[in-house]
Amino acid sequence: MRPFLGSGLNYLSVMRLVLLGAPGSGKGTQSQRLIEHFGIPQISTGDLLRAAVKAGTPLGLAAKAIMDAGKLVDDRTMLGIIRERLAQPDAADGFILDGFPRTLAQAEALQKLLQELGTPLSAVVLLEVDYQVLVKRISGRRTCQDCGRIFNIHTAPPSDPPPCHGRCTTPKLIQRADDTEATVSKRLQVYDDQTRPLADFYLQCGLLRTIDGDGDPEVVTRRLISALEG
Ligand SMILES: [Zn+2]
Repeated sequence: MRPFLGSGLNYLSVMRLVLLGAPGSGKGTQSQRLIEHFGIPQISTGDLLRAAVKAGTPLGLAAKAIMDAGKLVDDRTMLGIIRERLAQPDAADGFILDGFPRTLAQAEALQKLLQELGTPLSAVVLLEVDYQVLVKRISGRRTCQDCGRIFNIHTAPPSDPPPCHGRCTTPKLIQRADDTEATVSKRLQVYDDQTRPLADFYLQCGLLRTIDGDGDPEVVTRRLISALEG
């Protein structure tokens, strides 16, 4: 039995989650907050892959051979790596999957695997943010070239002292090539093409919860938690 934590009344249930969200939707931030709230690990397929390769497990070696050949790791190998990770004790109370699934085929294979293991997903959360807001959020990002600190010209207007003011005498703010308005639209288009079918799939499975991702991160977290616990 997991200990009773916090004040949520429906807190005893296990949380096995997938978070879907466009670039700039705050998926990373919210994922971090849910991990803390529910006391569950984040299972990142990218991290798992790197760890398996480093540890030299049979799956890791297979993955390394595939990547060394300049190919993408196939779904079967990825699922094998996820299966191994889910067998770890800390995943018994739940998890948030990060970076997987990205395609419909992966989503279907994951459903099958979790069914086999008797650990089905609790919910799939779609963080929805208006595309115009996303474009503004991402294209407003600036990085200080000296200290690496990130801020936003919209949420911290140029008239304000930049966040690293005092540390850097003259903050040198640059925009990543990836964050220009033209690139952002393209990234959002790619996301839309890949993720829409996933959202539809999970809707049909009765797992999809769509959350308004606009507004203060604190408020968005409360929305998420009440949708998951409610
Ligand atoms: Zn700086």
